[in-house]
Amino acid sequence: MTPSSLETVARIQPRAEVVAMDGYHSAQVAVSVRLNTNESPFAPPAAWQEALADEVASIDFHRYPDRGAVALRTAIADLHGVDVGQVFAANGSNEVIQTLCLTYAGHGRRVVTFEPTYALHSHIARISGADVHSGRRDQDFRINVDEARRVVAEAQPAITFLCSPNNPTGMLEPQEVIQTVAEVAPGLVIVDEAYGQFAPWSAQELVSEDQCVAVIRTYSKTWSMAAARLGYLIGPTWLVAELEKVVLPYHLDAVKQAAGRLALRYEGDMRKRVAELVAERDRLMARLSRLDVHMWPSSANFVLFRPLGVDADTVWQSLVDRSVLIRNCASWPRLGGCLRVTIGTPEENDIFISALTGVLKRGGQ
Ligand code: PMP
Repeated sequence: MTPSSLETVARIQPRAEVVAMDGYHSAQVAVSVRLNTNESPFAPPAAWQEALADEVASIDFHRYPDRGAVALRTAIADLHGVDVGQVFAANGSNEVIQTLCLTYAGHGRRVVTFEPTYALHSHIARISGADVHSGRRDQDFRINVDEARRVVAEAQPAITFLCSPNNPTGMLEPQEVIQTVAEVAPGLVIVDEAYGQFAPWSAQELVSEDQCVAVIRTYSKTWSMAAARLGYLIGPTWLVAELEKVVLPYHLDAVKQAAGRLALRYEGDMRKRVAELVAERDRLMARLSRLDVHMWPSSANFVLFRPLGVDADTVWQSLVDRSVLIRNCASWPRLGGCLRVTIGTPEENDIFISALTGVLKRGGQ
């Protein structure tokens, strides 16, 4: 930078919350095996791609899309057995989280998370200007009901985020914890179920007009549609109506609306892919258990593990050098020495395991 541009940068300061924070970092490296962002390793069905191509051909591109995304939201509502007014759709579940924070968090308000958990809950809450109060999970990363009560009573949060299965630990939040938080929290309780299709129970059961509970889902994982950027919330109609006031008009483009609506016709294919991933996860975990690593149980499409006696950063880099990219969580709160691997295709998982075996044999190199 030139001296005069440095001067300009010094003068034009972002808001204090933004100055204080780092951006969201997830390495995007050119490798042949990418197991770092919990996407599905499988493409969506060819029949969906064909149906979408037909619909795209008939879109009036000179017109704005349906602002209320009614057909898409109706299809989602039918899938979940709820009313269309209980569905808020957005550009990925991250935009759902952002709209929630813009609407209910902000300056002078507090948001509760239980660390370690999905980083964007606290990140977006802070961008909105809210103070984040973090409860601690146990040694084994479970939330203790008493700790949940304590943190919520102390913070009196506008929003409490839970995540089940929790990213990056892979564990389900106990039903008892979600129910207790829903009873004691003075504000909204948001249960992020980005990996909900892997779980035996959904907090959707708790959604009703007289409860402040909502559930977030995404198309990015089990629906194999991360590129489409589509997610949604199921919650009380009054909550959805407030979010609609805040989100930008026409934020969901016509192609995305069609893509999301048509995808739900192939629920059977999605469930088959989930079953395949669960089988692969079990196989991968069995192989990991033979290596010198500590591993946490997983109810999702990823596994958190800690290589023992070797440095996680070195292991991560050595895997990249072998063209395998996983997630380095070592610098995240409470996750020193931890790495997270997404379940890929059987071939990808085999490549990962043999690369990791080689790296660990060489002391991490
Ligand atoms: N919530 C959780 C728990 C996630 O793991 C992710 C993706 N990593 C998201 C939300 C964001 O997903 P989307 O692609 O729908 O924005």
